Amino acid sequence: MKRAIFPGTFDPFTIGHYSIVQRGLKLFDEIVIAIGTNQAKKTFFSLEKRKEIINQAFVNEPRVKIMIYDSLTVDFARSIQANFILRGLRSVTDFEYEHSIADANRKIAGIETVILFTEYEYSYISSTVVRDLISYGKDISAFLPPNVQL
Ligand code: ADP
Repeated sequence: MKRAIFPGTFDPFTIGHYSIVQRGLKLFDEIVIAIGTNQAKKTFFSLEKRKEIINQAFVNEPRVKIMIYDSLTVDFARSIQANFILRGLRSVTDFEYEHSIADANRKIAGIETVILFTEYEYSYISSTVVRDLISYGKDISAFLPPNVQL
């Protein structure tokens, strides 16, 4: 069974994230969306809310699981027998970051990172943009996965 984790902060989970997971389901039998809590950074949405949003998006998809972790990502992956890390790539900036992390993860744990290029129409969508729009009272439903209500 091919299991991957899709790790991130997901503050909040956007339609860009959703698209990566949907496409990843063609490659993997199971995807664990892993909400990381080890970074000291303060989030806009609570952990419960971030989890609930992802849950709404995948309520009808038994091959997607949601878990919370606070360890090193590769240690978490190994603890649940996941041999792959799924990530999305929007830009050259993402590339530099993902490249160095992927190399480190393969060296220290033998875990391969599988990167999918974003779909063109989602390339500008980020959790940061969504948070900014919310704080100015804008409707962000087009940036969220289908069936998600904040
Ligand atoms: P992190 O804090 O680890 O960067 P994020 O929640 O910001 O977590 O993102 C998780 C993953 O989703 C990263 O690989 C990121 O590049 C990817 N991602 C975010 N937004 C998009 C998007 N619009 N299209 C494709 N991938 C995306």
